[in-house]
Amino acid sequence: MDQAAPPTTDDTVAPRDLKQSLKRGWRRRCPNCGAGPMMSGFLKVRDTCPVCNEELHHHRADDGPAYITILIVGHLMAPLLHIFFVQLRPDPLVTVAVFSVGCVALSLFLLPRIKGMLIALQWSKRMHGFGKSG
Ligand SMILES: [Zn+2]
Repeated sequence: MDQAAPPTTDDTVAPRDLKQSLKRGWRRRCPNCGAGPMMSGFLKVRDTCPVCNEELHHHRADDGPAYITILIVGHLMAPLLHIFFVQLRPDPLVTVAVFSVGCVALSLFLLPRIKGMLIALQWSKRMHGFGKSG
């Protein structure tokens, strides 16, 4: 039996567009305005958006982006390694070189984007204090 929870203050505010904020997070932009950069470095998240002053310091990404990146890179590279080895029978040093560079490059590409998406998800769901700013 499903009982509805009593409304809280978070239920009375307007919902935020999840799909739009995830796209903005992938581009490492502020999930609120889409114009300001979310990060000041490779992975360092700004305290506030320089364009709309939305507070971004509420995020709690922690190890989540790393786990998701490893999950994706592992599930892509392991089958590719199998196909690469079975089909081409390359020299082991070539295999190591190709897949080392491939794994590192893909991880460095995905990690900040996944972190942006995770923070945008938290922002759109008003998690960890994101709901207090509007
Ligand atoms: Zn902004």
